[in-house]
Amino acid sequence: MALIVQKYGGTSVGSIERIEAVAERVAKHHAAGDQLIVVVSAMSGETNRLLGLAGEISETPDLRELDMLVSTGEQVSMALLAMALHKRGIGAISLKGSQVAIKTDSFHSKARIKDIDATRLHAELAESKVVIVAGFQGVDERGETTTLGRGGSDTSAVALAAAVKAAECQIYTDVDGVYTTDPRVVDGAKRLDSITFEEMLEMASMGSKVLHLRSVEFAGKYGIPLRVLSSFKDGPGTLISVDNEENLMEAPTIAGIAFNRDEAKLTIVGVPDTPGIAYQILGPIGEANIEVDVILQNVGDEGKTDFTFTVSRNDLTRAEEILETHITQLGAMEWRSDSKIAKVSVVGVGMRSHAGVAATMFRALSEVGVNIQMISTSEIKISVIIEEKFLELAVRALHSVFGLDADEAGDPES
Ligand code: ASP
Ligand code: MG
Repeated sequence: MALIVQKYGGTSVGSIERIEAVAERVAKHHAAGDQLIVVVSAMSGETNRLLGLAGEISETPDLRELDMLVSTGEQVSMALLAMALHKRGIGAISLKGSQVAIKTDSFHSKARIKDIDATRLHAELAESKVVIVAGFQGVDERGETTTLGRGGSDTSAVALAAAVKAAECQIYTDVDGVYTTDPRVVDGAKRLDSITFEEMLEMASMGSKVLHLRSVEFAGKYGIPLRVLSSFKDGPGTLISVDNEENLMEAPTIAGIAFNRDEAKLTIVGVPDTPGIAYQILGPIGEANIEVDVILQNVGDEGKTDFTFTVSRNDLTRAEEILETHITQLGAMEWRSDSKIAKVSVVGVGMRSHAGVAATMFRALSEVGVNIQMISTSEIKISVIIEEKFLELAVRALHSVFGLDADEAGDPES
């Protein structure tokens, strides 16, 4: 008998039919003797619908009231799922974040979980009940309802799993696992049986958006095994594993190819090559809360150098405004921007112990004629910035050169 936390996302509870299907799945686990805490999202589209209603009244609705509004979405699905389980003769009870209690700070619409009191959960489980918990919501010190930010139900599930020391946290969604890259770009992309937390963070932060990033960080920190599975078809999914010796030994050199189109590049031409210049450029950018990703400074020539960095495309206009106001002060000649770029990364904990990954990557890109504009590396990742129109070509070349393509014969599992 294992204690398992399961989380069902919006599409998995998107209709009465789907909720009945979730009830069937939960019933099976219950019959097998597992103890279950089930976290649900709002029915798909519901959170957006509620935000839309608020938007019809005000562009800047009060955040406390907004949380009161959007937190109702999860309460609808939790109560319906409880009813569907009752119909199957299974004891089940749904609980709001405040009833659990999932205690958060008071930052409405982006609250963070501080503590979970597991007393009520254990008491209900002891009565053989399936406990259904509303994802995405919590309660602050004053008893106010808070929400955790879009996609926050994943984080609710992982936090609950940590609080009750669950054997596994299973995230049921509309894909059957984490893939070596986006299957829409590479036909031969394969489902991974497992991936380490570190790799998952790199894959997730760069566009393979299967899980809410904070939930992965949380699971890694508390050592909660996390599994991504499909609620539409049976299968083992992908286990996001604790980074222990054994898992690291078995890790392939490259787990996957991640990419991101959401980047833009800014170059400041002819800045004085003096101490403090990087700070003078990036200081005001940071103060504006704009996150900088890849940075490149050219070799200085005659006391001048060029400085290039990338930001998220949404932040480009603001970053341009900042450069425009600082350009004279910096003593620079001019600045330029380019939003037609993309970032491609090879990710794998195994590259720590394998030399030559960068060489293989750059050779593969050169063979398909893709020019590399910028490079950045970390222990488990090498990223390049390239022209956006070459993105798919680059991803396919890298997926193939690192041996990630599914067997020609056809991998039965992919
Ligand atoms: N319902 C919320 C959202 O759509 C939370 C979640 O689904 O994780 O963002
Ligand atoms: Mg989600």
